[in-house]
Amino acid sequence: MIREPLIFELSAKGKRAFAFPKLDVPANEETIKNLATRKEIEGFPEVSEVEVVRHFTRLSQTNHCVDIGFYPLGSCTMKYNPKINEKVASSPEFLSTHPLAPPEFVQGNLEILKKTEGILAEITGMEAFTLQPSAGAQGELVGMMLIRAYHQEQGNPRKFVLIPDSAHGTNPSSAHICGYQVKEIKSNDKGTIDTEDLAQNMTEEVAALMVTNPNTLGIFENDIKKITQIVHDQGGFVYMDGANMNALTGICRPGDMEVDVIHLNLHKTFSTPHGGGGPGAGPVGVNRKLEPYLPIPVIVKKEERWSLDFNRPQSIGRVRSFFGNFLVVVKALSYVLSLGPEGLQEISEIAVLNSNYIRKSLEQDFHLKYQTPTLHECVFSDKFQREQGIQNIDIAKRLIDFGLHPPTMSFPLIVYGALMIEPTETESKRDLDLFIEAMKQIAKEAKEKPEILKSAPHQSYVRRLDETTAARKPVLRWAAPQSQEGKKE
Ligand SMILES: *Cc1c(COP(=O)(O)O)cnc(C)c1O
Repeated sequence: MIREPLIFELSAKGKRAFAFPKLDVPANEETIKNLATRKEIEGFPEVSEVEVVRHFTRLSQTNHCVDIGFYPLGSCTMKYNPKINEKVASSPEFLSTHPLAPPEFVQGNLEILKKTEGILAEITGMEAFTLQPSAGAQGELVGMMLIRAYHQEQGNPRKFVLIPDSAHGTNPSSAHICGYQVKEIKSNDKGTIDTEDLAQNMTEEVAALMVTNPNTLGIFENDIKKITQIVHDQGGFVYMDGANMNALTGICRPGDMEVDVIHLNLHKTFSTPHGGGGPGAGPVGVNRKLEPYLPIPVIVKKEERWSLDFNRPQSIGRVRSFFGNFLVVVKALSYVLSLGPEGLQEISEIAVLNSNYIRKSLEQDFHLKYQTPTLHECVFSDKFQREQGIQNIDIAKRLIDFGLHPPTMSFPLIVYGALMIEPTETESKRDLDLFIEAMKQIAKEAKEKPEILKSAPHQSYVRRLDETTAARKPVLRWAAPQSQEGKKE
């Protein structure tokens, strides 16, 4: 593998993309060159057009992405998103809408937002939605704020939020930021919520339970009705983390399970690519009890026109500028309409089928802590391989050599040495088989040639990195070449 030079290293004085013909008029000193060229960067690179194009194209190929191959990062739903939805969202009419345009000018956009709210409500069985939150974690915070506002109005915001030990890390953070103390609820030996532990902890001091369903082990909470009953009996709310909705869409609805609040990740389930830090959306759905607290403005229809209602005295206020990430909403709507109800059901069925195919195919080679049937993802551990001195990180790094993205590692915390695999509904049988074959070969290598795993990856752009140093001493700025002199790479 060739090391891609820095663009500064490609630079040589006088190189340029193209040159204009010689001037046949007197030169004007106020040229773009003089006005807009940065002067504070010493040795600003001078390169040819072909060098620029090749440099950045090569760099773009050094990262794995879902357009290149399989990306089984559990809990993240790194599925392929149909390009048609990108195309719809990049229509000039959408792109050029000004976020400050008055409602009379953007009736169509408001209708899209309202329609999407309604469709998400139908899919989840909730009463109403806000599309403002920009991510799952922000959705969680908004959900908790709604719950707090309700309790506050009853005279007591309450003190605790219950969260199972298998939960995504954002759940306790959101509850904490909203001013609650987190109490952990144990999982039983099936990997689901221990309802006795829940009943013991569920008091009138508890504002809510945050539950992920299917949970982060990919297991459906079969006792969900009992769980919601226990919480409601003490006047608490059930918050559902709905990031994993591609296991349920078109099959069952959280609203029917008596869930009170839910957030969805449009950038997981509903066709917005993510992972590169691009915009996302974490809409929040609520039941009738919490609807009055939703963020303002709420889009309403008055005299046949869409308008914005700011006059909602119980609202928690605005949680995001403008309307959230509008184009992400457009993609979600386009995705849902193109699939239709049958298509939505099919994505869940295939997501579950694909995951179970992997689980069954690899259960002899990799340890499964829980034998409970799973939905859209499954969690193995490195227990068998640890006997050969191999850890989950070695397995993950070796997968890179096969052109595959590693699974999520060491999460959920209740599975030591976890390898959490979510194939998603968009993978073909052929791609699943290639992954299974690679994993089987890795299991074999762990027994026969563990040193290959210890030093992996071998085929990638960079070798095994010191992740602790990278996290503790991140180098985020490039230093000028002079100061680099004599330094080892
Ligand atoms: C991804 C995820 C979140 C957080 O969503 P972000 O958009 O990354 O903030 C929360 N819970 C679960 C289960 C998730 O998978």
